Amino acid sequence: MTEKTLIRKVVIVGGGTAGWMTAAALTRFFEGLIEIELVESDEIGTVGVGEATIPQIRLYTGLLGIDENEMLRRTQGTIKLGIQFRDWRRPGDVYMHAFGGIGGKLGMLDFHHYWLKARKEGRTDGLWDYSLNETAALAGRFDRLERLGDTPMAGLIYAYHFDASLFSRFLREFSEERGVRRTEGRVVDVQLNGKSGFIESVSLASGERIEGELFIDCSGFRGLLIKEALETGFDDWSLWLPCDRAVSVPCAAIGAPIPYTQATARPAGWQWRIPLQHRTGNGHVYASHYMSDDEAASILMNNLDGEATAEPRLLKFTTGRRKKFWNKNCVALGLASGFMEPLESTSIHLIQTGISRLLEYFPRRGFEQVEIDEYNRRCIYEFERIRDFLILHYHLNERTEGDFWSDRRHLPIPAELHRRMDLFRANGRIHREFDELFTEVAWLQVMLGQGITPAGYHPLADRVTADQLNGFLGNIRRIIATEVNKLPTHSDWVNQHCAATDPA
Ligand SMILES: Cc1cc2nc3c(=O)[nH]c(=O)nc-3n(C[C@H](O)[C@H](O)[C@H](O)COP(=O)(O)OP(=O)(O)OC[C@H]3O[C@@H](n4cnc5c(N)ncnc54)[C@H](O)[C@@H]3O)c2cc1C
Repeated sequence: MTEKTLIRKVVIVGGGTAGWMTAAALTRFFEGLIEIELVESDEIGTVGVGEATIPQIRLYTGLLGIDENEMLRRTQGTIKLGIQFRDWRRPGDVYMHAFGGIGGKLGMLDFHHYWLKARKEGRTDGLWDYSLNETAALAGRFDRLERLGDTPMAGLIYAYHFDASLFSRFLREFSEERGVRRTEGRVVDVQLNGKSGFIESVSLASGERIEGELFIDCSGFRGLLIKEALETGFDDWSLWLPCDRAVSVPCAAIGAPIPYTQATARPAGWQWRIPLQHRTGNGHVYASHYMSDDEAASILMNNLDGEATAEPRLLKFTTGRRKKFWNKNCVALGLASGFMEPLESTSIHLIQTGISRLLEYFPRRGFEQVEIDEYNRRCIYEFERIRDFLILHYHLNERTEGDFWSDRRHLPIPAELHRRMDLFRANGRIHREFDELFTEVAWLQVMLGQGITPAGYHPLADRVTADQLNGFLGNIRRIIATEVNKLPTHSDWVNQHCAATDPA
């Protein structure tokens, strides 16, 4: 095997969400062109959590031609319109990072400049009064809506809550039907080329050896290929994001599932609540430096709204990323590539963007270092901007209990995040750059929600008179309220379109 070998076979190590998402996408595009084999070990199993997604997942399912209703039915799925942050700024404070836009554009200016001007002039409406997604989420309503009434404004932007293990199972079926070969077995050794250091094969406990030209490491936190075999270094971000454990437990669903995720701040971290059709997923993410495992588990168990349906499960992790996501002939995806806590539900998304970049730079005959470098540069940029967005939630807090929150407030933050916050503080300006995931509206909601109020706004907002402004704002609120009232409830929608038949 040399750097110029024709790529005939891809070997994927690991069959969690990352492994099967990769297999499904590769077979969708390369069926008949390359051979794909996935090795997984039932004995080792998968992480088994990961229930909340962001709207971009619909690009992935759309590209694969997956029927959305069928997928939701098979995964006990529900709809997600945003994430509600509870007690983050201080106890009692609630805001939402709602998907989609807020308000409407008037001329060249983003809506929030008009809203800031209106606030200065004494209007008291919240920014989220102009969010279709938040209004529908809090009303517990949903339908697929292309447009907001007969306006040019976008309709509801949504993602899914689903059982990630069922999603992997669904994708496994999709992949196997299209020719992906699955091998059950435990990888015990990795053979490297003595000269190039490229991976030549992996061997299983059974003695079988699996060869390939391109290897995808989806083996989870352990990073069998990228870390253990290729010794690719790791950038540790624990200083900024010190949460390093999560305890998770499902509980019985009480009442109709709400169409949004909840993230509630706790003394040394936060707790998620994700409503599926058949149960509610819960987890407590915390920093072990500030809280014991027993205390974390007891906080979680005392804050469930239904009876726990399993024993709590502990997961340990280190926040950060591999120094290289693609090293030699190995690409790491999923937990093997790095991890950031699920505060903004970004892990499955990062698998997806890794796959789409891999498709973009897919090698044919050998490997071009310049393309590998570009792949890595873009992944690093995306990871770092998400990291900054997560730090923002912690840094801007006014919570007074314990050291965890005061340390988050006082510890230094990345310079790039500082720049963004300062820019917003001055006159409400925000820019989304390059490949970064979160939009201006996402940054806007979290910066405002966590307590930054810009001193000014764009001067062009002054071109509208007070009457025009009131008319503009009033109109948007009225249209949103009218359209939301016409929507079915989320649970009626689920029952009608994708009710699960299998109890799971
Ligand atoms: C606490 C927590 C909460 C999360 N919540 C969310 C969320 O809400 N939204 C979101 O997008 N993401 C979330 N994630 C992330 C999400 O769970 C993962 O990104 C996703 O499941 C991908 O995992 P994976 O496939 O990389 O790894 P895993 O699920 O760990 O799969 C690893 C695979 O490798 C195989 N394997 C390992 N070693 C060997 C070996 N020696 N031989 C053969 N096979 C092997 C295993 O059998 C398994 O099939 C969360 C993660 C954690 C830890």
